Amino acid sequence: MLALISTNKISGKVTEGGDRLDKFRQILSRLTNDQLSLHEAIREVEHQLSRHLSIHAGSNQVFASNWAERLVRTQFSRFYNQAVLESEIAKGKNECYVPPSSQEQATSQCSQTLAGRSHDVSHLLKLLVTSYEDGKWDKSPKIPDHPHCTHVVKPIS
Ligand SMILES: [Zn+2]
Repeated sequence: MLALISTNKISGKVTEGGDRLDKFRQILSRLTNDQLSLHEAIREVEHQLSRHLSIHAGSNQVFASNWAERLVRTQFSRFYNQAVLESEIAKGKNECYVPPSSQEQATSQCSQTLAGRSHDVSHLLKLLVTSYEDGKWDKSPKIPDHPHCTHVVKPIS
């Protein structure tokens, strides 16, 4: 997961310009290492990647309310699940399981179409990379499916 955080592309305008992307990678790495709590990581992003220093400072769309929390939650989940999916592919596995999440509304797209079922590992990885790495949003149900998605992929033994 740390290797992915340090090298793989992170799409999104919040991290564009200057050393914003490097700063964000460092914050995500510290969160992954338990050196920061989720709450502390969000505070660090608000501070180190503050809106007024961004080339997109004038955009309320880029800096919608709770932008820092959405960014941290989304990319932390993306990197965790990407690491699991890539590890499964390296082991030659084709299928993974997405357990139901009690912390998520039963009406969400991912609760209804992904949770409680097995899925093709390569398909989920492709959707994740296209949306969160390449920045070409794919509406198909995926993990994570939205900034507060609590669904994760689990290996099938
Ligand atoms: Zn979800």
